[in-house]
Amino acid sequence: MDSTEFRKRGMEMVEYICTYLETLNERRVTPSVEPGYLRHLLPSEAPQEPEDWDQIMSDVEDKIMPGVTHWQHPRFHAYFPAGNSFPSILGDMLGDGIGCIGFSWAASPACTELETIVLDWLGKAIGLPDHFLALKEGSTGGGVIQTSASECVLVTMLAARAQALKRLKAQHPFVEEGHLLCKLMAYCSKEAHSCVEKAAMICFVKLRILEPDEHASLRGQTIYEAMEEDELQGLVPFFVSTTLGTTGSCAFDNLPEIGKQLQRFPGVWLHVDAAYAGNSFICPELKPLLKGIEYADSFNTNPNKWLLTNFDCSTLWVRDRIRLTSALVVDPLYLKHGYSDAAIDYRHWGVPLSRRFRSLKLWFVLRSYGISGLQHYIRHHIKLAKRFEELVLKDKRFEICNQVKLGLVCFRLKGSDKLNEKLLSIINESGKLHMVPASVNDRYIIRFCAVAQNATAEDIDYAWDIIVDFANELLEKEQHDELSEIINRKKQDTLAQKRSFFVRMVSDPKIYNPAINKAGTPKLSMELPSPVVSRGNAPIIRTQSSVDHNSWISWPLAFLFNSGNNEDKGNNVSLRFRHLDTNVRHSSSRRNSGAGSSPSPENEQELVNVQQEQKSPRKSPMAMRKASSTRDNPN
Ligand code: PLP
Repeated sequence: MDSTEFRKRGMEMVEYICTYLETLNERRVTPSVEPGYLRHLLPSEAPQEPEDWDQIMSDVEDKIMPGVTHWQHPRFHAYFPAGNSFPSILGDMLGDGIGCIGFSWAASPACTELETIVLDWLGKAIGLPDHFLALKEGSTGGGVIQTSASECVLVTMLAARAQALKRLKAQHPFVEEGHLLCKLMAYCSKEAHSCVEKAAMICFVKLRILEPDEHASLRGQTIYEAMEEDELQGLVPFFVSTTLGTTGSCAFDNLPEIGKQLQRFPGVWLHVDAAYAGNSFICPELKPLLKGIEYADSFNTNPNKWLLTNFDCSTLWVRDRIRLTSALVVDPLYLKHGYSDAAIDYRHWGVPLSRRFRSLKLWFVLRSYGISGLQHYIRHHIKLAKRFEELVLKDKRFEICNQVKLGLVCFRLKGSDKLNEKLLSIINESGKLHMVPASVNDRYIIRFCAVAQNATAEDIDYAWDIIVDFANELLEKEQHDELSEIINRKKQDTLAQKRSFFVRMVSDPKIYNPAINKAGTPKLSMELPSPVVSRGNAPIIRTQSSVDHNSWISWPLAFLFNSGNNEDKGNNVSLRFRHLDTNVRHSSSRRNSGAGSSPSPENEQELVNVQQEQKSPRKSPMAMRKASSTRDNPN
């Protein structure tokens, strides 16, 4: 394709995108395809010879589009918004056209400098303290664009881990780093995004997952008690990830409380994940939601969620950039340049070396909407969410399950989780509307998010009408099913009664000899035999935990050890639907912790003992007895 043809095809593509977005509501919001649908439509080999552009585009419409979920569709109310706007698309287009790779200042100075400036702009608009801004006099902090919020959490945890290990190594210079690593403990709420757990797995550290309060908000006292308890066990708290605007229900951890409590644990890194909600803090009336940010070491939000910027654009600010980069710096000769000391090299701020010119699209968005235009957009979505909340509240068959502060409403039919699962499933199957569930306070709820850029009040009313229609149908059917079930049960009971009376008449002496009844039935012993713990190759150690908190520890790589472990298939393991995108299997209680779940610190010591005993060629009889009794007796 030469530039003449690119001009022609480019214009056609712009036309195609505009038509696509303008006529989205003529399509099903979710595709009606089965896994593998595309394999049957496309050849199994790449074409040997060039193909005609018109043919490629015709395949887009006929083969690709039928499998697309339309996130910009006015009936899409799932997850959080996927940022999208024309200025952002054009910014990305320009970035792609320039095609530079900005891993260092020298690799493309504008790429680095624009990112620093735009991150300062946005940081100021959000209301971050000055120490997060790179260009503020005397500041040690700064901002960077990462691919995703998950990456923001990962790199901050890596930085916190490096700091903690450095401190520990200074205190214990002769202890190997691996031994120090196993003492580190990170913390988050049960409502935190699963990316925190993933980061802990990658960092190979333990993560203690804590129970929030009834509003899904993690409290300062909870974190304080957990950290103090862990310190008493010889563990080292090093990282806390809080969330402002949780994925499940857009709840807010109590940052001021947590920040204050963390003052008692100097050196612990406090991260704030505000992937969705953080964008809204550009509105002055929402800045109170950011209270406590002065305690934080880092903060992230995703303009690619709620600031009209296309993926990928996840912005991260740190209080101390040296603490971040010192965990990630590697300096091969070919990447060195003469301005290394004077300029930012973003390759030290994250995992990848190569980086796109992502600041261009954010710059385009900030300039073409202005902060006031973006505030208007955020407020509009909040107004739509409030409208939806009012509609739900008017119908007494439904209830609201979260405090609606931003664009997300959590609701459910009053009734069982199963009923709500059915409602959501029939709505989604219809392709008329798309929403996803979450678990809030251990109840199944349906999330409704204001998503489309130009959504209107009519769109909200229309969505509610669809929900009500399906709910009416479902409740009617349920009532009908319930009625027929009662009638059926009654019929069966009567029949069974008649049969049973007849059978007992001929076989049970009690029925015709009341004297036998008076003698009573012998009592069954309530004592159950002690459960036997089966062992695979890994030692399973169960000890009574002293901890009574409703929390559990995600043990690095626990999942690997859990998979295929049949003993955990019983009630011992509960399926925890923590939020919309993860199904996580965890041991339901620390007391029941088994292989691959979450051993307590005491268990850890026991594990070390056992492993040493297993390795040791000469075992004392006492050590052998101790090892085998701990392994075989739960608690
Ligand atoms: N953190 C929060 C609070 C989120 O809501 C999400 C996703 O919705 C994430 C992290 C993960 O975001 P990403 O896909 O950018 O990694």
